Order: sequence, then structure tokens, then C-alpha cells
Amino acid sequence: MRLDVVSIFPEYLAALDLSLIGKARRDGLLEMSVTDLRDFTADRHRTVDDTPYGGGAGMVMKPEPWAQALEQIRDSTPGSRGDQPGGPARSQRPVLIVPSPAGEVFTQETARELAERDHLVFACGRYEGIDERVLEWARESFEVRPMSLGDYVLNGGEVAVLAMVEAIGRLIPGVIGNPQSLVEESHSDGLLEYPVYTKPASWRERGIPEVLLSGHHGKIARWRRDEQLRRTSSRRPDLIERLQPADLDARDRAA
Ligand code: SAM
Repeated sequence: MRLDVVSIFPEYLAALDLSLIGKARRDGLLEMSVTDLRDFTADRHRTVDDTPYGGGAGMVMKPEPWAQALEQIRDSTPGSRGDQPGGPARSQRPVLIVPSPAGEVFTQETARELAERDHLVFACGRYEGIDERVLEWARESFEVRPMSLGDYVLNGGEVAVLAMVEAIGRLIPGVIGNPQSLVEESHSDGLLEYPVYTKPASWRERGIPEVLLSGHHGKIARWRRDEQLRRTSSRRPDLIERLQPADLDARDRAA
């Protein structure tokens, strides 16, 4: 998978050199490039923002540096130039992810969907965001997806990109050593994960649930499932409401 990130703070993305995502890059599973938006300005101060039309507080990111940065990325992507009438087929277009508190909420389902794509481009906004015309213009060459990390406001898109790249990247085959880890974790089956414990079995006068020492795989699986349901009901009742009847087994329904 190829990832491009455009930002006025390229150093922010250095964290993507670390840990499993950094290793995936070194192993060639992820090809990643960070572009400094200020490289596409023409003035001495390398200005990327201006006052908002209509007045109001804050500044808005100017359209031209964005267009030039995205054009450079687009033109270095085979098949995405839009040579055929109507532009390239949707599935061939790079996905332009625009972090925004006004976007669709990024979930594990979104991460799964995006992990299947060949090329993701992230446009990190700052100030009051990017001139809206950039998103309209970009639809000619990109599949544009304004995307929110959650219902709160950050200072810039970089932190959102770090979170999204990590969530997407770990789903790419080969990035996580044991793929079973991806099956048994929160949000893989619509529920939160069960509590986990490690050695020692007794720690500061606290033990662990007996069943985990039983060696009985069936009982352990049932205990874990019950704990998932209990934890999800108490912390995230909204997730329980979204479950379909087919998501529950006979023992779940009885509980
Ligand atoms: N004026 C914008 C609004 O009210 O929708 C908020 C702009 S925010 C201060 C600056 C940038 O931070 C945004 O352009 C976006 O890139 C990023 N950002 C802020 N909150 C975010 C969130 N919840 N999810 C993703 N990106 C966010």
C-alpha cells in the first residue's frame, strides 16, 4: 500500500517510523511519503492561510498550495490522472482522506475498508480547515473522504492521521506477526474485548479468574464471550443495540 501525507508539520509524522508501522515500512509492506505543504507556496513567508470570506475568527488554508501538492501526488500515481472521459474508475482512484471534525466517523469498519485500497492520501488541515473548493476540485481525481476521529476538536489533522494510519496499517497482511490477534480484539465482532491477565497468577493479593487456569478451552471461550457481553453492555450499550440476531449465539441470548 502507498500512503502520502501532506502537512505543514511533516516532523509530526516521524512517529510512523516507529514500532510495527515503521517495521512494515522497512519491510516494504507500506510505502510512505510525507509532503510539506509549504513547498508549494510562492511567497517569502511561505504562506498557506488567509482570512475567511464572510468574516469570523481564525484563518482558512489557501486552495492553491493544496492543489499543487495534490497534483504532484496524483501525477506520480499510475492510472490516476483521469485520462479517460469522466476520470479513472472509482476503484483506481487514490482515496483522499481529509481529517475533519465535520467528517464521517472513522471506525474499525472504515479501517478494514481502507486497508483494501492501494493508495491513500491524507490532507492534514490546520487553522479553521481547508478552502472547501479544494475538496470539490479533488473529486475529479480522488475519492474524497472527510473523516473524523471522534466528536471533539483537535488543532490539526496530523494526530488523526497517526491514529488512522496505525489502525489501517495493522490490518495489512504481514504487519502484525500473529493474524489471530486481529480476530480476537475489540470491535472485530461488534463487541469490546474481554479482560486479559498475565503472570504472576497472584499479584498484590489479587488473583485471576479460576477458569483461566482450568485448561478447559470451551469454558475459557464461554467465560471470555460472557465478559465481552458484560463489558460492552456496561461501557458501550450503543454497540449492543447495533448487534444483529445472527451476531449472538444461543448461550448469549439466554444470558
Ligand atoms: N473549524 C473546524 C470545524 O469546526 O469543523 C475545526 C478546525 S480544527 C481547529 C483544525 C484541523 O484539525 C481540521 O482541519 C482537521 O484537519 C483537524 N481536526 C480537528 N478535529 C478533528 C477530528 N475530530 N477528527 C479529525 N481531524 C480533526
